[in-house]
Amino acid sequence: MSAEAAGAQTPRRDPTCLFCRIVAGEIPSTSVAGDDTVIAIRDISPRAPTHVLVMPRDHIPSAAELTDADADLVGHIFAMAAAIARSEGLADGGYRIVTNVGAWGGQTVDHLHFHLMGGRAFSWPPG
Ligand code: AMP
Ligand code: ZN
Repeated sequence: MSAEAAGAQTPRRDPTCLFCRIVAGEIPSTSVAGDDTVIAIRDISPRAPTHVLVMPRDHIPSAAELTDADADLVGHIFAMAAAIARSEGLADGGYRIVTNVGAWGGQTVDHLHFHLMGGRAFSWPPG
C-alpha cells in the first residue's frame, strides 16, 4: 500500500480535533518542547504546579488505538516527558504520567496525550 493510500485510511489530522488544531498552530498554546513528531504544551487548566501535555503531532484518538508500529513514537513521548520532568525540576521528587482512555477513563480530548504532572504529591489510586 502506498503512503498516500495508508494516509487516506488513517488521516494524520482531524480538522475537528482541538489538539490537531493546536499542532497546526490554529489555536494558541504554550509550548514546552517539541520536534517533528511530538509536541509538549502547558495544560490550560493545570491540576498541579507543573502540568504538561505530551502528544504526537499525528492524530491518534487514544492509547486504545496504539499498535506495535507505534513503539518508537511511544518511547519518544516518554523520553521527552522525562526530559521535561528534569528541566522542570521534578525528577528528584517524582511525578506522574497518565493517559486517560474513553469516557470512564476521563478522556475529554480524543487525541492521544500524556499528562505529565508534578510539583506536589499525588494520591493512589486516582479518583
Ligand atoms: P483529558 O481529559 O485526559 O482528555 O485531557 C485533556 C486536557 O486538555 C485537560 O487537562 C484540559 O485541561 C486540557 N486542555 C483543554 N483545552 C486545552 C487547550 N486549549 N490548551 C491546553 N490544554 C487544554
Ligand atoms: Zn487530533
